[in-house]
Amino acid sequence: LLEARQKVLKKNDLLARELRRRFEDAGVTVISLASSPGAGKTTLLARTLRHFIEAGTRVAALVGDLATDHDARRLRESGAKVQQITTGTVCHLDAEMIESAIRSWPLDTLDYLFIENVGNLVCPATFDLGESRRAVLFSTTEGEDKPAKYPPIFHTADVAVITKIDLAAAVGFDRAAALAAISSICPVMPVIEVSASSGEGFPTWCRWLHACRTLQLRL
Ligand code: MG
Ligand code: ZN
Repeated sequence: LLEARQKVLKKNDLLARELRRRFEDAGVTVISLASSPGAGKTTLLARTLRHFIEAGTRVAALVGDLATDHDARRLRESGAKVQQITTGTVCHLDAEMIESAIRSWPLDTLDYLFIENVGNLVCPATFDLGESRRAVLFSTTEGEDKPAKYPPIFHTADVAVITKIDLAAAVGFDRAAALAAISSICPVMPVIEVSASSGEGFPTWCRWLHACRTLQLRL
């Protein structure tokens, strides 16, 4: 069983590597978002797409869920090209799903591609999607100990995003404990605190996204 699992991961890694090369060749910056269900990935992404479209940035998104195209329909309101990936019983996206979703897309017409993973903090950690950068999100309403409970996804992420900070006081969120939990797992991990509904911290998130792209284009 272990051997079969390793084969699957190996196959995924090879395809992800190929995807990453294609993304780089096309000059598209690919950002993936992982979190548990309900942490606010879609809400943050909706605001991000809206902001980018208004600024004339060429942006698209893929969104994974077990069923329904609710999130894709919601994200399309921004005017961005959005495709839903329904995984059926599979609790994560893999490189093959990404590859088949973008097969007919002219990638070189994009500046950014966002990938919203299925709400799950466990196996998305082991599946490389060919993304340039990975963001892991958790919300103030989930408590401070998410990083301590799910270290692998934090290890593979490039940024931790604390969402719903407008609700922090109402739910008694212990900010210092959350920051300590993140830095005990990844001491150098940048942390962005954001409310996609009030917009607090949103400029910081956008600055991080711009920095990812600048760095990628310079390399
Ligand atoms: Mg969603
Ligand atoms: Zn899974």
